[in-house]
Amino acid sequence: MNNDETIKKIHQQLHTQNIKGFLAPTEAEALFHLAYTSAALGPCLEIGSYCGKSTVYIGSACKLTENILFAVDHHRGSEEHQLGEEYHDPDLYNVQLNAMDTFPTLRHTLNQFDLEDCVVPLVAPSQIVVKKWATPLGFVFIDGGHSEAQATIDCLSWASQLNPGGILAIHDIFDDPARGGQGPFRALQSVLSTGKFNWISQVESLGILQCCAD
Ligand code: SAH
Ligand code: MG
Repeated sequence: MNNDETIKKIHQQLHTQNIKGFLAPTEAEALFHLAYTSAALGPCLEIGSYCGKSTVYIGSACKLTENILFAVDHHRGSEEHQLGEEYHDPDLYNVQLNAMDTFPTLRHTLNQFDLEDCVVPLVAPSQIVVKKWATPLGFVFIDGGHSEAQATIDCLSWASQLNPGGILAIHDIFDDPARGGQGPFRALQSVLSTGKFNWISQVESLGILQCCAD
């Protein structure tokens, strides 16, 4: 099976199994290709797995390249997923805990896509995981908290974990405030202003940067 066939198969399986998430098909394809082509530069890491939509595309590329994806999420949902908020999903709410819990769904997704041997879920806040992180990365996908403060912390702290030539992809980039929140867009500007990253391209709302060579 070539990569295009693999991506098509994932699209179909996600659709059949009704995996919840927030990712356009073209963005998903871009994630797969970026993870696939950057495999020689180090492991992949994503912030914000939710139910595993982005995870299966990056994870499948890792499986083919014998790489690993670290999938970071506290699984308590972002602000907009909380009870009473716009993107709240009652199916993902744990009534006993009185909290969101997407981790069981992520585990189910990884099992269904046969990715348990190449995706390592890290169930913790991004800012805790990064504190002791010491493994240079080849590809980082940022799709966690979307406030300007959180997105900026995530982008700057994880960008600095990339190997030279590594790829940073940031979701929900909207240069027009009428189309979406400005947190991730401003975070991307902060990364560019370090002078250590080059702008590569944008696929729908997915902004793609590359860490400059040393
Ligand atoms: N990439 C997913 C969507 C992610 S939604 C997809 O393809 O469908 C955003 C996720 O980020 C939520 O699951 C939320 O729990 C997580 N999140 C928000 N803030 C976080 C933080 N500070 N640390 C870790 N995860 C966080
Ligand atoms: Mg997103």
